[in-house]
Parts: sequence; structure tokens; C-alpha cells
Amino acid sequence: MRIRGGSFGYTQSKKSNRRYEVVVGIGGNVGDVKRRFEHLFYFLKRDKRVELLQTSSILKNPPFGYLEQEDFLNAVMVLQTSMQPKSFLDFLHRVEKRFGRVRLFQDAPRTLDLDIIFFGNKKMKSERLTIPHKSWFERESVILPLTELYRV
Ligand code: ADP
Ligand code: MG
Repeated sequence: MRIRGGSFGYTQSKKSNRRYEVVVGIGGNVGDVKRRFEHLFYFLKRDKRVELLQTSSILKNPPFGYLEQEDFLNAVMVLQTSMQPKSFLDFLHRVEKRFGRVRLFQDAPRTLDLDIIFFGNKKMKSERLTIPHKSWFERESVILPLTELYRV
């Protein structure tokens, strides 16, 4: 199910001169997730370290892994940054914390999950950071919003 409205389904055509274009997957299933996504949008718009270029619309998806939990809302966004991948991951973790994320267990309910899907054309593989994201191609929650952005 596609949820329209708010700041999702947004495109800014003017790019900045920040070095990398990054695709970030966002998800959540605790509380008013749509409202949290809106807050995230304005938070990132104001942050000078990133330039938010595009957001997909929001999709509702059933949970995977641990099934006894609410459906997820997911979207992807494209932003530019000059941060390096690991610093950018630290930045995303701080943003998750700011929006109330507590890590309980794997695949647990979460207020906000921010994953790096692509980072320019970089490739890396470690437990701390794998780019492109290790399972982006098998998650409908990522593929569908991506096709909306890139029309592939
Ligand atoms: P989930 O796999 O459900 O997103 P977490 O958000 O708790 O679970 O992430 C677990 C760890 O995955 C993070 O602490 C991070 O170091 C690591 N990780 C590896 N690759 C990536 C990536 N591309 N984007 C985000 N986190 C990643
Ligand atoms: Mg994550």
C-alpha cells in the first residue's frame, strides 16, 4: 500500500556540490511513523552536512524475521554529502538515536531505521558497513521506492 502526501514524493532538482550521492532506506513501525518521517525530512533539510534531493512515497510492508509486530512504513531518499561512508553511518546512528531508536534484538520493532543502500559508486564489505546494502535487492521495501526514483 502506498501512502501519499506530506514531504514524501518530493524532488529538488537543484543539486549541491557535495561529493557523494547517497541512497538511504528508512523504516519504522513504532508509534506515529508517518509523522516521524515528516520530522526527519525537515530535520535533514535543515542540516548543512547533507542536501536532501529526493524522497519516494511511503510504502506499508509486513514485518520479516520477527513477525509478531506491526507493519513497517518504508521509504527511500536520495541525498548528497561530502562525509565519508563511516562518518556518514555514524551520523545516521546519531539521527536514529535522536528519533528515539533503542536497539533491542535483531529485526525488532523500531522507531526509525536508517540504512545506507548506495553510496556513490563505492563498494565495501565489513560487518560494520557493507555497501551496497547486503540485502537491498531482496527487499520489496527498498526495490519499489527505488523504481519510483530512478524509473528502472
Ligand atoms: P538492520 O540490519 O535491521 O538495519 P541495525 O539497524 O541495528 O539492523 O544495523 C545493524 C548494523 O548493521 C549497524 O550497526 C551497522 O554497523 C551495520 N551495517 C552494515 N552495513 C550497513 C549499511 N549499509 N547501512 C546501515 N548499517 C549497516
Ligand atoms: Mg539499520
